[in-house]
Amino acid sequence: MKISKVTPLVMGTPWRNITFVRVDTDEGLIGYGEARAVNRTDSVNGYLSEAVPRYVLGEDPFNIEGLVHRMFREDYARAGETTMTGIALIEMACWDIIGKSVGQPVYRLLGGAVREKVKAYANGWYTVERTPEEFHKAAKQVIARGYQALKFDPFGAGLYELTTREKHKAIELVEAVRAAVGPDVEIMIEMHGRFNPPTAIEMAHELAQFKPSWFEEPVPPENLPALKKVAQAIAPLGIPIATGERLHTIHEYRELFELQSADIVQPDLSHFGGILNTKKLAACADAYYMLIAPHNVGGPVSTAAALHLGACTSNFKILEYFNDFADPHVKKVATGLPEVVDGYFSLPSGPGLGVIVDEDAIREYPRQNIHFNLFTEDWHKREAKIA
Ligand SMILES: [Mg+2]
Repeated sequence: MKISKVTPLVMGTPWRNITFVRVDTDEGLIGYGEARAVNRTDSVNGYLSEAVPRYVLGEDPFNIEGLVHRMFREDYARAGETTMTGIALIEMACWDIIGKSVGQPVYRLLGGAVREKVKAYANGWYTVERTPEEFHKAAKQVIARGYQALKFDPFGAGLYELTTREKHKAIELVEAVRAAVGPDVEIMIEMHGRFNPPTAIEMAHELAQFKPSWFEEPVPPENLPALKKVAQAIAPLGIPIATGERLHTIHEYRELFELQSADIVQPDLSHFGGILNTKKLAACADAYYMLIAPHNVGGPVSTAAALHLGACTSNFKILEYFNDFADPHVKKVATGLPEVVDGYFSLPSGPGLGVIVDEDAIREYPRQNIHFNLFTEDWHKREAKIA
């Protein structure tokens, strides 16, 4: 079997453009990959326009290890976010084709199920006014939908520092959400790499009283010793640090592992070269007793890919999910992805990734001109269209 054609399709939402890639083979089997390249949709598609004829066309989709290696290494140029996203789009589609070819769900080809369901946490649910009352109300709706975990960033447009007023506001917002969900629902505090170490350390101490399940990306992603400084300072609080959505290779993770500056790793399969690369990372993380909680801001295909990883990976913790709250129309472009019920996804059951993509439905939502800027007021409303 040989890959005969690769076709990108971009779907728009008010704050994210999602790239689907359809991979055709000469035997008629089709697979799909999917990624949300934040503010860089053309970069990823530009990369694919060079890489697909060079590496992908004519390749046997079963030869994932060699294909990913060549795409990673043989350009000589270093692989970062754009390249690892392009590789992931192709890799995910190859697994979809392999699974369809042998009539098995992907997780059964990667070690088999180690759990019967995968816990989800909600994101994208707080597209409301940034007040304790509104956040309280929105959080109530999340648990009414059955979720037992939710994540949010209460820090507005903060960067490096916060004003005293903004610190108090963030504390009030977290207090309101904890009051809304009660003591047993998990809340995760997203910091989006906003802070310098002293501000991150101060806010972690202030918010520890609300028993979050993790503090995410307390400092920007480029300087892992700075994260180590935060990790050491807040270790007595006993609250894990999660990070990794902006690390794109196993080599970038090496320093994080050696410093042991996080407890939970958050690779995004769709920016990390795909399913098998992320499975390898999970094994490395396990050597440090770190859990894996993939970043997932995608639609049905990349969510399915992450679910397959969750099904077959022993140190998997929980999966992020937006599409019950932000842009629910994203769910309409494919069938087969399990719904979150009582806070958990069941395992996908069909062959391959187990989702059937409707390309006409994707075309109903054309690409948008957006700049999703997390460092501007009201970014959390996720209305990022440029007029
Ligand atoms: Mg994050």
